[in-house]
Parts: sequence; structure tokens; C-alpha cells
Amino acid sequence: MYWRKYWMFGAGLLLLFILFSPAESSANSKETYEVGNQVLNVREAPSRNANIIGTLSGSDTITVFQEKHGWVQTYYGGKEAWVAKHYLIPLTHSSQKSQSTRQSYNESATIQANGVRIRTGPGTDYRVIDIAAAGDTFQISGTDGEWHKIVLGNGSAGWVASWLTDFPAGGANSQAVPSPASAQTSNGSLSGLKIVVDPGHGGKDVGAIGLNGVHEKDLITSTAEYVAEELRRSGADVTLTRNGDYFVSLGRRSSISNTQAADAFISLHYNSFPILAANGIRTYYNSNGQTLAQQLQGSLASNLPLDNGGTHYGDYRVLRNTAAPAVLLELGFISNPNDLQEVQTPYYQSNAAQAITNGLKQYFN
Ligand SMILES: [Zn+2]
Repeated sequence: MYWRKYWMFGAGLLLLFILFSPAESSANSKETYEVGNQVLNVREAPSRNANIIGTLSGSDTITVFQEKHGWVQTYYGGKEAWVAKHYLIPLTHSSQKSQSTRQSYNESATIQANGVRIRTGPGTDYRVIDIAAAGDTFQISGTDGEWHKIVLGNGSAGWVASWLTDFPAGGANSQAVPSPASAQTSNGSLSGLKIVVDPGHGGKDVGAIGLNGVHEKDLITSTAEYVAEELRRSGADVTLTRNGDYFVSLGRRSSISNTQAADAFISLHYNSFPILAANGIRTYYNSNGQTLAQQLQGSLASNLPLDNGGTHYGDYRVLRNTAAPAVLLELGFISNPNDLQEVQTPYYQSNAAQAITNGLKQYFN
């Protein structure tokens, strides 16, 4: 589609302009936002029922001219157009960069996993500004708690969780896992518990294919990182059955849990169905996960904007062969337009992580 390409080119120019225009001169009469969603509908009017005239994709940047009932107005293909504000991330002012006090650190940190989030501050509540891959190395310019401040390729600052690097907070000789003491300061109620997080599918097994060709495995990879981060913040000892985009057999997933005698096993998935209307969150259990399933489903349903699909018995091999209380979470239908739009946002995935963590706390306490 030609017009779309031209529009993308325009968006690129706009982004370049934003990046390289002098920060001080921006009096900011109009606000700039980034699309925090892989697909965002652009509509003729500020309403969910209005005609769709195009789509934006993740990290596209738009300028907003006015706001109405949770919708913001921009221009699309030269025409007035509206998008839901909920899916937009305000772009931070580049003046923040100059504040970064460069301390005399000579250390560097090498990232230990693919898809590691680089954030604007020391915690998972901060916005993601970049994604690093295993082997990427950054100079450390500071440390706050368990987080390293690092120097990015363009010279700006970012923050990364020290436990995802080869340089743990507190120095190279301390242990890579956050110490129980520091974990307790955030919230230690999962301290001492071994939780296996199982990101479904991976590699040649793409899982469900949703609208716009979205692959379940990709959404799960990012969701699992949020879940692992959140559980670790609560003191849990977390193992991921995969740490990137590669194939892991169902037998291997169970045996990872069984060999370390995990306290709980949580398999993460997104659903799909030929009927567009199928939607909502469902939790499955087999022989030993019913109570855990009820806790997690309750917590997810009350904290996330999708429909409550309830708990169900499921004869899944990955549940059957796992000794720990095991559940399989279907965190929304990627074959449903509304579910898909929600589950692709960082907000949804981090809220899901929070809900899973809270559900586990209720289950174990
Ligand atoms: Zn799946």
C-alpha cells in the first residue's frame, strides 16, 4: 500500500526532526507521543465506532493537536484523525539527558539474555526505551539499588536490571541474584520460593498466529520477562524454561521444574480461535493446580481489562508431567481485535505480571 509507505516515511522524518531539534527551543505547544502498541487503529472521529482510516505501529511517533474524551487528534494522510490516548506514551524531553552526572565508573556490563529492557529509570515502572540482546556491552555510569545506569550507543542514559548482566550490583564478587535483604526492601513475600515461568512455544514453534500475523511466541517472550522481573522483585527464585526465541520440548519444560523441585510452575500463553468474538483470560489446571489456578485467575481478572473466562480443567502434557502445582494461563485472544490491541501494550503485560505476582503471594500466604 503506497500511501502507507509515504506516511511511514513522513513519520521517520518527524522522528528525525524530534531527535535532532534543539531541546531548549521546544516551547511545546503540541505534544508528541509514541505508539506503545504493535498495531493502533486510526479513526475518523473520537469514538470506538468511528470508521478506521489506517493503522499506526509500535514506536511510530505522532503529534497531538487536541484531546477529547480519552481520544487525541492528529493528522493521517493529510486528514484529521483520532487515536485512543490510552495506547500512547508521552515522549520524555531530551533535556533530561544533560542532567546525567557522569561519575568515574570504569566498569562495563554485558547483557546475559535476549530482549532485555533498557528503561528510563531504575525500576520496572519506568518506560522501555531500548531492547538489548545477549552479548551487548555497555559502560556503567552509576548504580541505584539493583539497577545499573548505562551509556547507550547514542550517548544517552538508560537503566538495566543488574541481575540480567554479568556485573551484579555491589561489585563483580557479589552474587548475581539479588540478595534476600535487598529483595525484602521491595517486598519479600515470595522469598525462598522457586517459581518456574514457562514462556510457551518458541523457535520453530510460533504458537498461535493472531490478527496482523502476530505470533504468540513473540508476545509471550516479552510478557514472560515482565513476569520474571516482577517475581524477582518480590524475592522469588525464578527460572525461565526459555530465555529467548528458541524451541524447548514440553518434556524439557516439565523436567526443568521437576529437577529443581519448584514450588509453582506457570506456563504463559495467548489464545486464538477461528471465531473473532472469542475473547478473555482463562486459566487451566490439571492434577494439582486448581487452587493456584483460582487465585491467579481471580487476580488477573480483577486487574486486567479483558473478560474473565474462568478456570478450566485442561489435559495439557506440560501440566500433567509437572510435579509442582502447575497452571497454564491464556492471557487473551490474539485472534480478537480488542484483546490483541490490549495485550500488545507494555501496560497490559506489566499489569499481568503484577497480577500473577499478587496471585502467587495470596496462594502462598
Ligand atoms: Zn500457546
